[in-house]
Amino acid sequence: MLTTNPFDDDTLHEECGVFAIYGHAEAAALTALGLHALQHRGQEAAGIAAFDGKTFNVQRALGHVGDNFSSQEVIGRLKGHAAIGHTRYATTGDVVLRNVQPLFAELSVGGFALAHNGNLTNNQKLRRRLVERGSIFQSTTDTEVVVHLIATSLNNTVVDRMIDALRQVEGAYSCVAMLDDAIIGVRDPNGVRPLCLGKLGDVYILASETCALDIIGADFVRDIEPGELVIIDKDGLHSRHPFPRAQRRFCIFEHIYFARPDSVVEGTSVYEARKHIGAELARESHVDADIVIPVPDSGVPAALGYANEAGIPFELGIIRNHYVGRTFIEPTDQIRHLGVRLKHNANRANIAGKRVILVDDSIVRGTTSVKIVAMMRAAGAREVHMRIASPPTTHSCFYGVNTPERNKLLAAQMDIEEMNDFIGSDSLAFVSIDGLYRAMGKRSRNTSDDQGYCDACFTGDYPISLTDHDNGSGATVSRLAESA
Ligand code: 5GP
Ligand code: MG
Repeated sequence: MLTTNPFDDDTLHEECGVFAIYGHAEAAALTALGLHALQHRGQEAAGIAAFDGKTFNVQRALGHVGDNFSSQEVIGRLKGHAAIGHTRYATTGDVVLRNVQPLFAELSVGGFALAHNGNLTNNQKLRRRLVERGSIFQSTTDTEVVVHLIATSLNNTVVDRMIDALRQVEGAYSCVAMLDDAIIGVRDPNGVRPLCLGKLGDVYILASETCALDIIGADFVRDIEPGELVIIDKDGLHSRHPFPRAQRRFCIFEHIYFARPDSVVEGTSVYEARKHIGAELARESHVDADIVIPVPDSGVPAALGYANEAGIPFELGIIRNHYVGRTFIEPTDQIRHLGVRLKHNANRANIAGKRVILVDDSIVRGTTSVKIVAMMRAAGAREVHMRIASPPTTHSCFYGVNTPERNKLLAAQMDIEEMNDFIGSDSLAFVSIDGLYRAMGKRSRNTSDDQGYCDACFTGDYPISLTDHDNGSGATVSRLAESA
């Protein structure tokens, strides 16, 4: 299969959703529902593995959860009282079934299924060593490295082997795994990606976000802590902290863009956080205008916060067509450009002759902003002021959010005035980094040390070493071409 690589970057970046449940007769059906609520975290592929006491029943498919996991036939085949699931969003690497999770391995100590959200930063280094020692990789995902490290570990139990494996990896991971007699949830020591614990009656659930608990009527119990590994089996929940303590570095971009606004992550409502960011933005970069318009859907909560704070009416001046995926996820540049037009249309009636403030969550390449500003002008806006509810995205993410290489990031190439010209707005402003931290309830960036965030995409301050990147190791070289 020939695809145009949208990011000119061969490494595999994945932002995904994970779900796990133990001890329920309808484990696979509940997992399918949970994954449906986590669809925003990955629309490329999905998979479920269920265990019925004897067999690991696995189904993996390219495409949306609802298109592949809604029939009785499929769910019926996924028999078992325990299940784990994954939604995958990898914009590079092969879009082939062999890269879809959960991964499964027959270990000397039993069956093992694994689903991973995040990105490992020493994947290439580990992979090379494993291959030299005889490991035969089946996929090009970084997650498979963990499976091989577990398979070749000399420890006796799967749990100890998993700990041994994870002690060797660097990067971001929130994983769920399934063994013969348990499910496991684990977060990297910095807690970059989310993972929470829920309960449905006596049944424990693990999920990337609380919206996946809501959909099945489960209660939120707590977040899995950074560096915590939980084992859920017939005796209940056991918690371990097998890794050296590290500073908390939750991905602040989860709050800005990635997580669903109805989720509560790391103790904070995503919706409220976005409104607070919008309010900070209004305080920092006030401009006289007639209406505040969000770039839907991701800009909506911040625009509400902005409008409330500024005392300027909020209007839906752009209507989104909901039958198109997120712009970024389209595979080629051409389609991505086309995608923006497919997705948004000006609601002319409340724009003509007005001074408009447009609020979006972020500018990455600038594609969206250029189109939307032009759309406002074409609809008769008198002035167009762009306000962005995050600081300028100047650096790539290596921990699982798919930001392109630096030379594709608008803010890495231009200063704010140049970006304003490029976008065609009358004025452009981003929330400051301290404003962002204030919105998150901190006094400033520097006062939040221990309970801090990963904000590398805005500051270049990478909290976890970038071993592969520093060594100049790029892609997983695959000599296998395969059609999806
Ligand atoms: P741009 O068009 O500037 O390249 O991207 C900015 C737009 O893409 C914003 O409207 C934002 O909501 C969205 N966006 C920002 N980061 C991401 C991401 O990591 N993935 C996806 N799918 N969309 C993103
Ligand atoms: Mg958006």
